[in-house]
Parts: sequence; structure tokens; C-alpha cells
Amino acid sequence: MIPMVDLKSELELMKEPILNAIKEVVESTSYILGDKGATLEKQIAEYVDAKYGIGVANGTDALLLSLKALGIGAGDEVITTPFTFFASGEVIANVDATPVFVDIDPNTYNIDPQEVKKAVTPKTKAIMIVHIFGQTAKMDSLLEIAKENNLKVIEDACQAIGTEYKGKRIGSIGDIGCFSFFPSKNLGAFGDAGMIVTNSKELYDKVIELRNHGSNIKYNHTTLGFNSRLDEIQAAILLEKLKYLDIFLEARKKIATNYSRELSDIVKTPPIYTTREHTFHQYSIETPYRNELSNYLQQKQISTAIYYPTPLHLQEAFKYLNYQNGKFPVAEFSSENILALPIGPTLTEDHQGYIISCIRDFFDIKINSTSE
Ligand SMILES: *Cc1c(COP(=O)(O)O)cnc(C)c1O
Repeated sequence: MIPMVDLKSELELMKEPILNAIKEVVESTSYILGDKGATLEKQIAEYVDAKYGIGVANGTDALLLSLKALGIGAGDEVITTPFTFFASGEVIANVDATPVFVDIDPNTYNIDPQEVKKAVTPKTKAIMIVHIFGQTAKMDSLLEIAKENNLKVIEDACQAIGTEYKGKRIGSIGDIGCFSFFPSKNLGAFGDAGMIVTNSKELYDKVIELRNHGSNIKYNHTTLGFNSRLDEIQAAILLEKLKYLDIFLEARKKIATNYSRELSDIVKTPPIYTTREHTFHQYSIETPYRNELSNYLQQKQISTAIYYPTPLHLQEAFKYLNYQNGKFPVAEFSSENILALPIGPTLTEDHQGYIISCIRDFFDIKINSTSE
């Protein structure tokens, strides 16, 4: 079976240095908030061109602590996309604020600035922008709307480390940016880990306290916080893997180019814009035959996945927000037609060719069976 992402073959490339790095941490007996974490914070901040990086327990906590640091809570509204992983909306509700969903752009699956504009109310405090699949949103328009309405901008960059918008790395463009190092992300740990980046000293100071029980000086708690730290073993692993990030992102882009060249006449492929980069955490196609194609590929030993089968506004957990089916036609249509193909950086040219030819075969069979 060709997997969606082949962590095993990635591991083979860097197993020795990673095992050595883990051993070093184990023998140091410094496991939480030590040198490795501090070095990783510095390197990630540098990588995304932000002043500060703060390691946290996972990407979800990165979002949660960002909302807390911005002072968002009960009575506040945060505008975001319904076409994302559940966490993006979940954290807004978990700080007692109201997630306000708006529809997406049908080509990039990112939040549509025109829709954001219409959704602003006197209660709106922030826009949470999700760079879905590794492609950026229209940042200039969104930043302008934020400025006009005095809104904070949180970037959920969990799927998009290294992606550039007009030459600037995302994550550091808004007020605060969030990354996830979940194992299958483009930069993945061997467990849970995440990072917040910001250019604001004030937000940095707040997050430093929030991740450590509201405390900066031991046993002196200035606020109610969380236990949300990135541990030294994960930091050591991530420092080794970070060395491969640019090579891996280039590999993803190359595979995507190959897929698009060979498939764009039969399925909708992700468009690439000159100002808005795509680092292909996922390579998603669209076809009205999505379910049939996915079954066919399964029989051919090719994994596929659906991101996301149910948009957030139709999730049971958000029933209390009273959104109806049909409210966000683009997000709903995308959920019904989208299919992600395998795109790990180690996917071989042979496998790419096999996947492409199986998809082309499926459509050949389809056309022949309907033309009679
Ligand atoms: C993965 C992901 C998260 C959550 O990150 P975790 O590290 O799994 O908590 C949040 N938002 C998006 C868009 C994600 O892809």
C-alpha cells in the first residue's frame, strides 16, 4: 500500500543523528525547558523571520494560548474558516468566545476576505487565518480588513511552515502565528509539539507565562495559565529534522508539479499563484467521482484521504451555533468533492507515475462506460 505520508522512509534518512540527539537529552537529565527547546525556539523564529518563538505542547495549545494572550474570551467573536481541522474552531469556543465561520475561496480553500468583511460586528476581536494544506490566504486583503476594524490576526500556520507570501514567511505576518509539529505535519516530532511565533514583546511575555502555569518566576503566579511546554526530547528531534525541512518542501513542490502537469485535464488541481506560495502539506484534487475514485485507488494499493469530510459549521459540537446545511456552499461542495493524494517528500518517481496512471485509468474506464 502506498501511504499518504511515509514516515518510515523519512526516518531512515536521519535515524542516526536523531537517536544520538535523543540519547544526549536522556543522559543530560534536563527534560523540560532546557537548552534544546530554547535553541529550537530561536531557530524556528529565525526560519519564519519572527522576533520570538515560544515552544508549546502542540498546535492546538499554540492557538489556545494565542487567543488567551490576546485577551479574547466571553462575549468576543473570532472570524475563521469552516474548512479546517476541528482545532481551529474548537479553541475559540474553549476560551468562551464565539467562532464566526465564513465561506472560503473555491480554489485555495482559504478564508475569503470579502466574506470576512461582511461578518465583522462590534463584537469581533480577531480573525483566525488558516493556511490550509500549505497554501497562504490573501494576506494583504485580510490585514487591511483587520486594520480597518481594529482586529487582531492569528495565523493558524499548523500546515504551512516555510510557505511564503510575497516573499515573507507566513506565521510572522499577523500578530501571532501558530505551528504544529504533530508527526505527520511537514515538520513533525515523534509525539506532540507546537510553537507560537510573534514580533510583539508583550505577547511573547504573556505566552511565556501562560504555557507555564501563569508563572515566570518559580512559585510566583501572576495569572491563570496552563501546563503546555515543548519537551527537550521533542525539541532535540525537531532540531535534527529542521535541517531537512527545505529539502522536503522542495520535494513536495516537485511532486505537486508532476501531479498537476499529468492530471489537470481530468480533475481540478490546486492552482499556484506567483504571490502566494504552496508547500503542499496536502495535495488535494477535486472530482465529482471522488468516492468512486478513492475506492478504485484503494484497490490499486494507493492510500487517499479526505480533508475535511464535514465542515466545522456542520459538526455536532457546534450545533449550538445554529448554522444550517447550505450556509457555506463552497466549503460544503469542497468537502464533498475533495481528495488528497499521497505526497510525502520520499514518494518515488515510480510511485508518482503509478498513482497518475491509475487515476488516468479510472477516468478512461469511466468515459468508456458512459459513452455507450
Ligand atoms: C494539525 C492542526 C492543528 C492542531 O495541531 P496539533 O498539534 O495536532 O494540536 C490545528 N490547526 C490545523 C489547521 C492543523 O492542521
